[in-house]
Amino acid sequence: MTTENGRKTVPDYYGENVFGLKIMRNYLSEKAYKSLSEAIKNNGALDPSIADEVAEAMKNWAVSKGATHYTHWFQPLTGLTAEKHDSFIELDNEGGVILEFSGSALIQGEPDASSFPSGGLRATFEARGYTGWDPTSPAFIKEGPQGATLCIPTYFVGWHGEALDKKTPLLRSMKAISKQITRLAKILNIKISQSPFATLGGEQEYFLIDKKFYDQRIDLVQTGRTLFGKAPAKHQQMADHYFGAIKDRVIAFMEDLDREMWRLGAPLKTRHNEVAPGQYEVAPIFENQNIAVDHNMLTMEVMQKVAKRHGLACLLHEKPFAGVNGSGKHCNWSVTGPDGKNWLSPGANPHENERFLIMLCAVIKAVDTHAGFLRASVASAGNDHRLGSHEAPPAIVSVYLGDQLNDIIEQIEKGSGIKSSKNGGTLEVGVDSLPNLPRHASDRNRTSPFAFTGSKFEFRAVGSAMNLSGANVVLNTIVADALDEICGKLEDAKKADKNMNKAVQNILQDIIKKHKRVIFNGDNYTEEWVKEAKKRGLPNLKTTPEALKATLEPAVLALCEKHGVLTKKEMMSRYEVYLEAYETIIKYEAGLAADMAKTTILPAAMKYQIELAETIKSVEGINKTKLTASRKLLKELSLKTEEALSAIGELEKSIAGGSAKDMKDNAAGLRKIIDAMEGLVPAEDWPLPSYAEMLFMM
Ligand code: ADP
Ligand code: MG
Repeated sequence: MTTENGRKTVPDYYGENVFGLKIMRNYLSEKAYKSLSEAIKNNGALDPSIADEVAEAMKNWAVSKGATHYTHWFQPLTGLTAEKHDSFIELDNEGGVILEFSGSALIQGEPDASSFPSGGLRATFEARGYTGWDPTSPAFIKEGPQGATLCIPTYFVGWHGEALDKKTPLLRSMKAISKQITRLAKILNIKISQSPFATLGGEQEYFLIDKKFYDQRIDLVQTGRTLFGKAPAKHQQMADHYFGAIKDRVIAFMEDLDREMWRLGAPLKTRHNEVAPGQYEVAPIFENQNIAVDHNMLTMEVMQKVAKRHGLACLLHEKPFAGVNGSGKHCNWSVTGPDGKNWLSPGANPHENERFLIMLCAVIKAVDTHAGFLRASVASAGNDHRLGSHEAPPAIVSVYLGDQLNDIIEQIEKGSGIKSSKNGGTLEVGVDSLPNLPRHASDRNRTSPFAFTGSKFEFRAVGSAMNLSGANVVLNTIVADALDEICGKLEDAKKADKNMNKAVQNILQDIIKKHKRVIFNGDNYTEEWVKEAKKRGLPNLKTTPEALKATLEPAVLALCEKHGVLTKKEMMSRYEVYLEAYETIIKYEAGLAADMAKTTILPAAMKYQIELAETIKSVEGINKTKLTASRKLLKELSLKTEEALSAIGELEKSIAGGSAKDMKDNAAGLRKIIDAMEGLVPAEDWPLPSYAEMLFMM
């Protein structure tokens, strides 16, 4: 179908760049199609006997789309995606070439890729790295300016199968939670008609600025954020950008992005202006976690490409501009059960409610037990600027349930038979129905880092630039562990022929008693909460190094080993890689700040001082009066210049031998002086585009 102006409608091009089930049907034999679609549905592996046929089909499809190359597309610990291209060409011995793609090349690649960080997992003698196809995430076409490349989403492991990437633990953790959900389904006599899977909908925040300003800011180009910049008098105070009418230039970008992503089979659903000027958000329909993560990584990549096409720069950093909101990535998490239903959705009958309440309590237990580990999953130099600065959830992890659900939890805690004050009764799990919980409760708490939002939990502390897999690995694993314990107890009760409703009730009551301290329905941005959380014994891991330490706790290492998600060695390697990345970023940001101040900003300020001094001298000479205010300005500026120079000295000293904290503190000190100077120097002499220009001129 086409529209009046001759364009295709979305269903006609949706997924056209993906080797999905619909397209496969046209390219594969009945037998191969059936085998592959089964493997995809049940998170299984590809049957090696059909690998050649699948590869040939994929190649033929890709070549028809203009592809000359293929690549195993993977997600190393840098947090970015990686690709190394191979062309399909093989020599035909007659001076020409034929196009080939074998099953073995599809299933496994050996990109070497030894320069990626591995935290010591890859000693040089066994430094091989292997990429392997995971058929649950479909291959897709990336279009270049002249041709195209077939991209095959893969995991990336070492010689002994050590996880060198972000996808491997995600797949392992998905398996772990799937296993426990299936176990619980059996206990609760729920029909098993499919493999259960964890679901994810990632809301992505970002900034758009004019590319010409971006190109003039070496700090944005190199670090993704502005290292200097005075906040303009008007920024986001009026919240007049939020949900406002979208400007033509921005909507053109959004339309282009939606179309590109729809062609790639990524179901982008919402788009709107965010709180800060220049800030926007895009969110997809939720999907199987593995695919959702891949789609988010692709979305980030395509966003930057499409922005360029429109003369814009897309900023994904968590805090590109001080003084206005930073960007996050809300991670909406749930589980689709073996009955095809959302298990975090309150049900229509007591039986479904029982399942829901077990899941809910498992999550509460999980988050309280492993709050530090969950916090660590969102730790990065960029996100440290955002967490806890009254625009994003604090570093204290707590769970928001809302009044109604909180009341139900309190009733369960009291146990059956005791009268509750609020509605005169208590709830018996598995016997009573839940009151109707509004899907979009009006009292939704935007300050909570981990909120129940009707049919899913929303983890809001993830940074905008992050790979979503980290947070999801932790969520899957900690909830799997809580379910493991619950299932163990329920299986014992079943064996002993106990009343199962009572058994569930008792287990949930125990969980709530023990873990209710993590539930907080108030304002997370207040000082009182920080104090209260401390009293409750909840961790408040403010910086990345503190948070990362939580991943080395014996209980966390044991948890990850037990569920086959990450071995101790893999966990240690990650700790090393992430800590080093943090320190490296702090260091190069400090270095760049010192350079910019010294070689770009101060020279401009000094030139203006000469100008000002000469002006004062000549005007005073002619007018025969003293220009007191002008002299004051000159003095202020020259004093600030001196201050800045000595701050640069301090910063350089800390870069040469100080801690990350010293570098951060000194860089902040320098910034304060420079930002004040920006208010003294003529705008046309200031060598960097201002915040007002970047945030408002579009
Ligand atoms: P809210 O208004 O609470 O933010 P939306 O319906 O707008 O809720 O959804 C926000 C995000 O949550 C979307 O990406 C959506 O697809 C996702 N989402 C909804 N249901 C689920 C689920 N069961 N599992 C994971 N994500 C979900
Ligand atoms: Mg949301």
